[in-house]
Amino acid sequence: MEHIRSYYAATANTLTVYPALRGGNSADVCVVGAGFTGVGTALTLAERGYSVAVVEANRVGWGASGRNGGQIINGMAGLAKLRAIHGEASDDLLWKLRWRGNDIIRERVARYNIDCDLKDGYVEVAPKARQLGMFDDYLAEMDKHGFPYRYERWDRDTTRAMLGTDAYQGGFICYRDGHLHPLNLCIGEAAAAASLGVQIFEQSPVTGLEHGKRVRVRTAAGHVDADAVVLAGNAYSRLEPKYLSNLVFPAGSYIIGTEPLPAKVVEEINPLDVAVCDVNRIVDYYRLSADKRLLFGGACNYSGRDPTDIKAFILPRLLKVYPQLKGVRIDFEWGGKIGIVLNRVLAVGRIGPNIYYSHGYSGHGVCATHLMGEILADAVGGTLERFDLIARLKPYRIPGSRSIGNQIIALGMLYYRLKDLL
Ligand SMILES: Cc1cc2nc3c(=O)[nH]c(=O)nc-3n(C[C@H](O)[C@H](O)[C@H](O)COP(=O)(O)OP(=O)(O)OC[C@H]3O[C@@H](n4cnc5c(N)ncnc54)[C@H](O)[C@@H]3O)c2cc1C
Repeated sequence: MEHIRSYYAATANTLTVYPALRGGNSADVCVVGAGFTGVGTALTLAERGYSVAVVEANRVGWGASGRNGGQIINGMAGLAKLRAIHGEASDDLLWKLRWRGNDIIRERVARYNIDCDLKDGYVEVAPKARQLGMFDDYLAEMDKHGFPYRYERWDRDTTRAMLGTDAYQGGFICYRDGHLHPLNLCIGEAAAAASLGVQIFEQSPVTGLEHGKRVRVRTAAGHVDADAVVLAGNAYSRLEPKYLSNLVFPAGSYIIGTEPLPAKVVEEINPLDVAVCDVNRIVDYYRLSADKRLLFGGACNYSGRDPTDIKAFILPRLLKVYPQLKGVRIDFEWGGKIGIVLNRVLAVGRIGPNIYYSHGYSGHGVCATHLMGEILADAVGGTLERFDLIARLKPYRIPGSRSIGNQIIALGMLYYRLKDLL
């Protein structure tokens, strides 16, 4: 399939046209899926001298990586659980894991000169006063680690002045996080990988794997034989059901894009041009695009059914935060699937000796996918410390079909929505 009609596809620097996989091919490593996880893994491996083939069912960045909120948010699902298991001695290691994805993105953008509207600054905001305590914890943690980048706690008045809304009690801004055009990043990283010799195949859904010392990755029209395979299809993957079903559940997240806003409005609602996300369980997230549209997303849908009218679903949430935008034109509306794991840890592991997977970023994947790309490349090369640490976090499985699982997730999220409201 081609890209959906999103703001990102409409403003991509270039749309990729890599060939479809035909006939027999061979590589050291075959990666299935060309989102951030797959492309990141392939690029890291190519930088280390491996021959790599990437097989993508649709287009580079077609999945969540090319549709997301573009918010660069440090961390990854499961860090708190790792801290609980390994105690204080793991603090430094976990702190490094937490920020490594941010570093990789910035290193890539600089090294390969990727034009993706990268901006510094991400603010978390608290709709309720009782949520403000977490910002004190952030502050204490960053002070403790001597975090070298700028960060600040915002009181209610500062938050109102910086975001032009009365919706929040306060916020916490970190300038090492930020935002970007995710499809342009993914396409730029794929171009960098291709320039290093990675073979990229598009419009080539993988239909199955034949396990063995050399794994055969099959599509309808061809195959790749490889020493190792990395499965990077996240919420869109159906491969290896014996090992991976009932682990990651696809949930919908939706974004609308306004018309470009006048300079006066931009100055009122986001003069610092930062990404914003609230701290509710069911989050609202938003930011300005390079051409000053408000890209506003949220309202995860765990039922497995997309809303028929995304604008009708999201616009009331936007207007609750910015009533002054009543009447604004909505030029774009789209959605994508995030991979949810019930106990919010990554679903990372190995099937047999040479098939690796990393799925289930639970909607928090721009940085974590970049971190996992590096960790998967390490694992393929035999360095397993960080891979094993994360793979030890066991994701909950829900026995039964995918659809039953989604209904359970829907019930769980209803519970969280009620908690947010209370
Ligand atoms: C609307 C939305 C907003 C989001 N906002 C943010 C945000 O602001 N910040 C943040 O950190 N995270 C956000 N996320 C989450 C983030 O986008 C994802 O965690 C991340 O992009 C996952 O990347 P991935 O490469 O693992 O998977 P994907 O980008 O989904 O890529 C998987 C790819 O695998 C391919 N594939 C699947 N099966 C096969 C097969 N059998 N054969 C070949 N190819 C296959 C698919 O076609 C797809 O291209 C958001 C997600 C969505 C949907």
